Amino acid sequence: AKDAGRNQVCVHSTTETDLPLTPLIVETMLRNALNNHDLEIYYQPKIQAKSMQVIGAEALCRWRHPEYGEIPPHHFIPVAEASDLILPIDAYVLRSVCEQGARWLADGYRVRMSVNVSSRQFMQPDFPDLVRRILRETKMDPNLLELEITERTAMQDVDNAVHVLTELRNLGVRIAIDDFGIGYSSLSYLMRFPVQTIKIDRSFTAGIQSAVNQNPIIGAIISLAKSLNLNVVAEGVETVQQFDFLRDNKCDEIQGYLFGKPVPPTSFRLTSFEASPQ
Ligand code: C2E
Ligand code: CA
Ligand code: CA
Ligand code: CA
Repeated sequence: AKDAGRNQVCVHSTTETDLPLTPLIVETMLRNALNNHDLEIYYQPKIQAKSMQVIGAEALCRWRHPEYGEIPPHHFIPVAEASDLILPIDAYVLRSVCEQGARWLADGYRVRMSVNVSSRQFMQPDFPDLVRRILRETKMDPNLLELEITERTAMQDVDNAVHVLTELRNLGVRIAIDDFGIGYSSLSYLMRFPVQTIKIDRSFTAGIQSAVNQNPIIGAIISLAKSLNLNVVAEGVETVQQFDFLRDNKCDEIQGYLFGKPVPPTSFRLTSFEASPQ
């Protein structure tokens, strides 16, 4: 509903119904959804550019509402983040992802599982303990778990972030800085964080129109990251031109609709792609 009041959230569901709902109603519905297991986790592949292997999967949650259909995260994650409800949601996602990663590993597939961590969850003093407990209970290989922290979250309190990231690193998990490049970090901060990966924000990928003649920023980000020995992932890759440019500029991993949208784990492709897409 275009004219919903200031305190209302417009939920555009897959049934195309506009739902002017207050954050409180969304929060209540979401709490029920969590209890009823109506939150589903989809996985989007990350492809290693030089080998075309599927080496990772990012977990992205979906809310399957009995009446309103599938509600995408940007309608409910911000509501959840405004309350403590994001904490049990992130914990639920983390546990489910570790269970899935352990299952795939048992089937012989080493898939690096990436999970988004909200700022509020990251700031919880017991967050590293939660991760440790879930790893133990699910018997997930810590080396196969990657936590995606946005650049904004990491920059909110740099000293605390260094401390928490170090604790997480000591558990053996990997850390990725998500939505990188949109203006919060500087090189000196990036060097202080014990991270292995940066994910170039989708807005940069979207700016790539051809395999040559580019906005120099994205190439500069990649070479900066490479000089720090970081793994570089580009997200939002939709075209062959974008793929070619990124591979030619030594971007390590590619994620985007070109290779696959987020899908339920049963539909996730675990085998490598034969050649670059056409
Ligand atoms: P994000 O972490 O930056 O995730 C990438 C988003 O880009 C996802 O949107 C994904 O579906 C979308 N995407 C991937 N490839 C393409 C592409 O080629 N083109 C375009 N146009 N989009 C692409 P999604 O699934 O709607 O998630 C939105 C955001 O919601 C995520 O952004 C993340 O910040 C948050 N989110 C999703 N799941 C969770 C979760 O379990 N916990 C938390 N805390 N946040 C989550
Ligand atoms: Ca992410
Ligand atoms: Ca991102
Ligand atoms: Ca984003």
